[in-house]
Amino acid sequence: MKPCLLLLALLLGFGHYTRAQLLLKDATIIDGDATVSPRKGSLLIRAGMIEKVIYDGTVPDEKLTVIDCTGQFITPGLMDAHVHLGTLNMNDQKGIHLKTDSILQNMLRHGITSVRDMAGDAIFLAEYKRKIATGQLAGPDIFYAAQFAGPGYFAMMQMGSRKDNDLGTTPWYRAITPEADLRLAIAEAKGAGASGIKVYADLTKKQIAAITKAAHAQGIQVWSHGTVFPAKPADGVAAGVNSLSHAADLCFQQMKGDTLGFHEAWQQLYKKGFTLDTTVQVKLLQGMQQKGIFLDPTIFHASNNKMWNALTITRIAHRVGVKVVTGTDWIYPEKNEAVPLQSEMELLISKCGFSAAEAIESATINSATVTGLHDRGLVRAGKRADLLVTNADPYTNIATLFTPAMVIKRGKVLR
Ligand SMILES: [Zn+2]
Repeated sequence: MKPCLLLLALLLGFGHYTRAQLLLKDATIIDGDATVSPRKGSLLIRAGMIEKVIYDGTVPDEKLTVIDCTGQFITPGLMDAHVHLGTLNMNDQKGIHLKTDSILQNMLRHGITSVRDMAGDAIFLAEYKRKIATGQLAGPDIFYAAQFAGPGYFAMMQMGSRKDNDLGTTPWYRAITPEADLRLAIAEAKGAGASGIKVYADLTKKQIAAITKAAHAQGIQVWSHGTVFPAKPADGVAAGVNSLSHAADLCFQQMKGDTLGFHEAWQQLYKKGFTLDTTVQVKLLQGMQQKGIFLDPTIFHASNNKMWNALTITRIAHRVGVKVVTGTDWIYPEKNEAVPLQSEMELLISKCGFSAAEAIESATINSATVTGLHDRGLVRAGKRADLLVTNADPYTNIATLFTPAMVIKRGKVLR
């Protein structure tokens, strides 16, 4: 090991750090796909990738670093599919870097090896994405969105707390008029390093369809807010976006008319006697299931804001077979404290009918797939060695994922 890497590992508080060929021996392997039963096996890791999952006990006859995992469990590394790392006050560069370094290290310590960032300053995010990818900083891999919204939305933000001049005029905060050159806007978003377009607000059904078509033509994902206004949730489904965020937002589908006014809709929601029409939800969610559109329900966020419909909607989504991802849209602690992803997964299990296996699937393979990543999220040959080793069985104790005995990122053991 190079001395600088050792120093980095020590500074980060991780006791052991290796890049060699590695054998994780005799663990119970949890695949990530909930339909695959856990099995006893060993993992051969080479050059940061899982080379082989060995179920028949035949360990290769070569020099390896062997870690005995008898009695332990291996799962894919976890993913938070809805974070905001780049929305801090960019005028205080030193402060935000110190804070972000700590947040990212704490995420990794708690088993989070990748994140989907749902809009923020792309210069800042690109810098962190690169630092982590090149091993200069320990943290989850970052994949981020460029936010597209109508000019009305950005004008509203300017009047509010945000006074940034870049709102609506950068590739990552892009005001989309009906005349916008979408092909160019999407190419610029890609150029700024975005993995997806976040369709956010003040856009019509026709615009969402056009953005989705143009984005998919350039091989980039489309992640929509549950309700975009004036477009309704079903408009995002019809457009074939890759995901809808915030289950609570889907309740707006039942309101009358083909379009929704932002203020009127929220007023109606908070008026006494609003009841969720579950038949409308079943139809909407079945449409998502048929098109393979992921739901990013953010139920911890919703529960903290007393938006209980989110739990019912996520329960229905689970019942009709919509694929769910685990996004928190919540603040991460800088210190070695519990992370909101744990609460999100616990709520899926306690309130929405998910088994622990299904909650793990949401936080691994589903969250990777929605981000457009096919190199991670499963404990299988050919996938990145982003792994957790736990002392307890996550199927009976989901909390154990967040205090892993080992976090392995790209084949490096951090513990
Ligand atoms: Zn968000």
